[in-house]
Amino acid sequence: MTDALSYDVIVVGGGHAGSEAAASAARCGVRTLLVTHKKETIGVMSCNPAIGGLGKGHLVREIDALDGIMGRAIDRGGIQFRVLNRSKGPAVRGPRAQADRKLYRQAVQDLLSDQASLEILEGAVEDLILDDGVCQGIVLQDGRSVNARAVVITSGTFLRGVIHRGEQRIPAGRVGEAPSLGLSDSFERAGFELGRLKTGTPPRLDGRTINWGILERQPGDNPPEPFSTLSTEISTPQIDCHITYTTPQAHAVIEANLARSPMYSGQIESVGPRYCPSIEDKVVRFADKSRHQIFLEPEGLDDHTVYPNGISTSLPEDVQRDMLRLIPGLEEAEIIQFGYAIEYDYVDPRELTHGLETRRLQGLFLAGQINGTTGYEEAGAQGLMAGINAARRAMGRGEVRLERDEGYIGVMIDDLVTRGVTEPYRMFTSRAEYRLRLRADNADQRLTDRGLEWGCVGWERADAWSEKKKALMDGRQLVEALSATPNALKKAGLEINQDGRRRSAMELLALPGIDSGVLTGVWPELGDLPGDVVRQLEIDAHYAGYLERQEADIAAYRRDEALLLDPGLDYHSIPSLSNEVKQILSQAKPATLGAAARLPGVTPAAIVALLRYVKRRGASSESAA
Ligand code: FAD
Repeated sequence: MTDALSYDVIVVGGGHAGSEAAASAARCGVRTLLVTHKKETIGVMSCNPAIGGLGKGHLVREIDALDGIMGRAIDRGGIQFRVLNRSKGPAVRGPRAQADRKLYRQAVQDLLSDQASLEILEGAVEDLILDDGVCQGIVLQDGRSVNARAVVITSGTFLRGVIHRGEQRIPAGRVGEAPSLGLSDSFERAGFELGRLKTGTPPRLDGRTINWGILERQPGDNPPEPFSTLSTEISTPQIDCHITYTTPQAHAVIEANLARSPMYSGQIESVGPRYCPSIEDKVVRFADKSRHQIFLEPEGLDDHTVYPNGISTSLPEDVQRDMLRLIPGLEEAEIIQFGYAIEYDYVDPRELTHGLETRRLQGLFLAGQINGTTGYEEAGAQGLMAGINAARRAMGRGEVRLERDEGYIGVMIDDLVTRGVTEPYRMFTSRAEYRLRLRADNADQRLTDRGLEWGCVGWERADAWSEKKKALMDGRQLVEALSATPNALKKAGLEINQDGRRRSAMELLALPGIDSGVLTGVWPELGDLPGDVVRQLEIDAHYAGYLERQEADIAAYRRDEALLLDPGLDYHSIPSLSNEVKQILSQAKPATLGAAARLPGVTPAAIVALLRYVKRRGASSESAA
C-alpha cells in the first residue's frame, strides 16, 4: 500500500470561495492543499465580470479587513470603479468595480502563489474519506486519496450541474466544464439534505459589432477608489461602460416564445435568484414595463467580448438572436456565446454551524454556492470564514464566528444556518439590522483586530492597520478634546444654538453643514490631520447619534417579537416598506411581529419600519380614543 498524501486542510474548488478558503487557512499557518479541476481556472468569474455593488461591496471590504484576497485582486484587475448610491449616506453606499476577467483571474492566482504554506493540485474530487462521523480526507477521480484534519468543499454550481438552453439539456458545471457527480452521491450517502437551485447568464457579444455611437455612455469614478486598504492607487487603465434598453418589440419576441424557455416549459423546476431575474422573467413579472435597462460591460482591455448585464436568458439560440436584433445598438451584434441557465445541487445550510462546519460530519466545512448562495462576494466571504475555521480545527482550536452586529459576513452566515434558503441567497444592505454600524468605510475598524486575534492577518496588513489605528485614535482624541462655547463659535462665524453649552469639535462635525474644512477656521491644528483620518472622523461623527437610535429600535424589536399584528393591517399604506415586502406581508398576514420577521424576503430593516408604524398607529388610535 502506498502512503497517502497528508495535509492539515484540503480545500476543494478554486472558485471564489475556494481561493479565499485556501488563502485564509494558509495565512493561519497550516499546511493547506487546494484541489481543483484546472489550475488555469482558479479565480474565473463564471458570470458577470464585476466585483462589489450594494451589500456585496461591504462583503469585499470585510474580506479585505480580515486580510482576504478579493479586494486586492479587484484592485489589480478592475477597469471601471464606481461607488453606487454615492448620493445617499455612507451606510448604503456600495463600492463596485468592473473587471478585466483575465487580469482578475491572474491576480487571484498570483496572490495564492504568495502563500508559503499552500500547494495546488489539479484533479477532480469524487468522494470523501469518512470514519465514524469524521471527515478525514478526499478521494480523487484517479483513485488517489489525500488525508487531512479538515476539508472545505467549495464546488460552486458543479454538483450535478445541468445547463439549459431552449430544449437543450447539457450536464455541465459551467459552460464547457464537466459536472461533479461523485460528490453529490457522497453527500447523499452521508445523509445530507440536498436541494436544487438555478442561476443564469446572458449571451456574450462581440463589441466590434455593437453600434456604440448611439448609446448612453457611463464613465467610472475619477479618481477610482480602491477596495483594499492596502492598495494606494489603481494603476490599470479605466474604461467606460454603455447603457441600452430592451424594447416592446423585443418583449413581444420573448412572450411569443415563452413556451420554449425551459423555465416556462417545466424543464427547469428549481428556483432562481429573485433579485437577478432572467429577461423572460422580467417580461412576465413586470408586464407593465416597456423597457429594461442593459449595461454593456467590456470583459477586458484587450478582449472584444461584451457582457450585456440585465438580459440573462435560457431561451433557445434563435430567440436570443431575434431579441437582440430589436435592441438599440445591438441590431447587428454578433453573439460569441449564447446565454444559458444552470441547475445544480446545494446542501441545506441549516446543516452547518456558524463556523460553516457540517453538524453531521466533524472536520467537513462547506462554503460558497454549495450553501445556496449566489455571487462571488458571498462565496468569498464564506470561504474566508470556512478556511479560518478549518485551520483552527486542524490546530485543535475552537470555532470562531462573527455576530450580526459585527459584519455583513455575520449576517449572511447567521441567515444561512438559522433560516436556510428557498432561493439563491444574495446580500443586500437591508438584510442587516445594524446597517448604520456595518458600513463599507469602517470594515477595518470593525474587523482587523478580530482577524489579528484569529491569526489570519499577515504582517503587511498588521503594520498598515496599526499605523492607521494610531492615526485614527490621535485624530479622535484631538477632535474630542477641542471644544468651544457657542459664543466663541459665533465669533468665529459658526451659527450654533446659543445655549451656553460647550461643544467638542467631534459634536460639531455631526451637525449639518459643518465639516472639517469649516472647523479648521476655528482650530487650525485640524488642518494637520491626514485626509483619510478626517474623512473617517466626519463619517463617525455623523453616525454617532443615529447609532443610538438604531440600537433602541433593535432592542424594541427584541422586546416586541410577540406583538400581535392586526389581521386587517393595510401593509401597502406603510410608506417605508419596499413593494416586495408589502406584497409578502399582505399575502402572509403574519399574526405577530416575530412571525413577520421569519417570512423569507422580509428584512430586518423592514421589521424595524413595521414596528415603528404599528406603534405610532397604536399611539394615535389610543390618543384618539
Ligand atoms: P465557483 O466559482 O463555481 O467555483 C467552483 C470551483 O470548484 C471551480 O473551480 C470548479 O472547477 C471546482 N470544482 C467543482 N467540483 C469539483 C470537484 N469535484 N473537484 C475539484 N474541483 C471542483 N452570481 C451572481 O451574483 N449573479 C449572477 O447573475 C450569476 N450568474 C451565474 C450564472 C452562471 C451560469 C453561473 C455558473 C454562475 C453564476 N453566478 C452568478 C454565480 C457565481 O458565479 C457564483 O456564485 C460564484 O462563482 C460561486 O463561487 P464558488 O466559489 O462557490 O463556486
